[in-house]
Amino acid sequence: MRIGVLTSGGDAPGMNAAIRAVVRTGIASGDQVFGISDGYRGLVEGKIQEFSRKDVSEILNSGGTILGTARLPEFKYEQVRGLAIKQLEKHDIEALICIGGDGTYTGALRLHEAGIKTIGIPGTIDNDIASTDYTIGFSTALNTACDAIDKLRDTSSSHQRCSIIEVMGRNCPDLALYSGICCGAEYIITNETGLDKEKLLESLKNDRLNGRRHAIIVISENITDVYSLAKEVEAYSGYECRATVLGYIQRGGTPTPEDRLLAARLGKYSVDLLHEGITGVAVGVIKNELHYTPIEEALKMVNSPNVELNKLVQKIS
Ligand code: ADP
Repeated sequence: MRIGVLTSGGDAPGMNAAIRAVVRTGIASGDQVFGISDGYRGLVEGKIQEFSRKDVSEILNSGGTILGTARLPEFKYEQVRGLAIKQLEKHDIEALICIGGDGTYTGALRLHEAGIKTIGIPGTIDNDIASTDYTIGFSTALNTACDAIDKLRDTSSSHQRCSIIEVMGRNCPDLALYSGICCGAEYIITNETGLDKEKLLESLKNDRLNGRRHAIIVISENITDVYSLAKEVEAYSGYECRATVLGYIQRGGTPTPEDRLLAARLGKYSVDLLHEGITGVAVGVIKNELHYTPIEEALKMVNSPNVELNKLVQKIS
């Protein structure tokens, strides 16, 4: 087969490991694999080149994506997708493996509907794709968040301060929930818990009166303005309070072994599925087993609530 591979949307550590696995599995199976630069934008512009085994050497442990990623909102227009299909035809590429998040999946679905054989690989630090237990990049972002929160804890404790730390996740609570548990945050606020500001302020005030030296609050992005919240905490609770938005630092870094392993497994699996004639699907792992789900269905699925972990937080934070 002649297979194209691209990365699209937000970058995530481990995307390179997935590209490597696709290229090497393809070549080992007798395929030709083409790297497409800068996501759907590069596809439309014809930024396509054949990859050898050697072209993906030395990338396994590097963050980001050697293919580059870009956003092309106009890909929702059939006319623009037509240009992409023309490029695929020009290079005689019959199948496309798209690594990214749900926007990338939507683009892949539209191409599938137009007759291109597509596979979606979940690459996003947010862990917000319900057709897999874990997305490529989540483990590394979790490590980065934990490292930052541990460091902020040191200084919070020395200064008897409350630290509010905003982590990414788009609308998925996992990065905040997991990092909050791993770092022993006193409060974890996500879209599952909601923010009860009055209760939080009262509780912090009581903590302070009881002689607690510091408080760590881990909060998901898109919940509230954390800088304003820090001012309110300072005014009400008796703690000095600082807000830190971890931001794009969470997107970078050397991928963890978990992300590399997941990327390698999903990259190989995608090529295997193409050979079996299974396309228009998103791959993932569920209970550590490889799974595929029609992309259309994957896009409709919602993550199940973190019932067990939320109960755990109530007991130990
Ligand atoms: P992610 O894949 O990480 O969710 P985006 O939402 O930015 O990132 O989507 C990545 C790209 O996928 C977009 O720039 C666009 O090219 C394509 N895409 C997103 N939504 C659609 C859509 N409704 N139809 C076709 N293509 C889309």
